[in-house]
Amino acid sequence: MISVLISHPEEGLILFETGAGKDYPEVWGPQLVDLFAREGYTEDMELDAQIKLTGNDIKDVKAVIIGHLHLDHAGGLEQFRGTDIPIYTHELELKHAFYSVASKTDLGLYLPSYLQFDLNWKPFVGASLGFARGIFLHHCPGHTPGLCIAQINLQNSGTWVITSDQYIVQENYDSLATQGWLTRDHHSWSQSNQMIHFLQKTTDAKLIFGHDREVLMRYKLAPEFYD
Ligand SMILES: [Zn+2]
Repeated sequence: MISVLISHPEEGLILFETGAGKDYPEVWGPQLVDLFAREGYTEDMELDAQIKLTGNDIKDVKAVIIGHLHLDHAGGLEQFRGTDIPIYTHELELKHAFYSVASKTDLGLYLPSYLQFDLNWKPFVGASLGFARGIFLHHCPGHTPGLCIAQINLQNSGTWVITSDQYIVQENYDSLATQGWLTRDHHSWSQSNQMIHFLQKTTDAKLIFGHDREVLMRYKLAPEFYD
């Protein structure tokens, strides 16, 4: 589970996704923990500990962007409950997540622990959003109705695209290897997939996939950074 911390010259600290949240094996229960088993876990992998490694505190985060609201990407939002930190997510994602929990139609991948009214939700609409200088969010439905990827243009290391679970692993990107039941809408997913391939080509972007450890480990991790 991957989170990206951006130190932005005008906006301050922006966090893209939050991981699973504290104590998630207990919060989620045994069935889900089987599905999202963790190996080699140490406490310094927690979101707040990782942010500390960068010399910042989770309390210094000025805005959170959630690519999609599944529990392994948004569980850590519990740390922002009761604060006025804006939580940006696509309108369709927010609606789908609350609806899924309320109606129990897509239960299991969302949790009431973070789908709460005391978070400062800031939904946005449309196909693309220029979020801040150098940061663009692109709506990529498929895995979920409102999933958004983040495009981050850095001065020296170029463009990065954080795909959330549009691609869980590299194989999804390279060969259209199916995500099975994890993709809710394959037609939409294919259209999103085409857009991202063009985006990669036109920007020469490096891609970080939702859960591909091997790809992630090729790059520098906190406290190291890219500029
Ligand atoms: Zn997901």
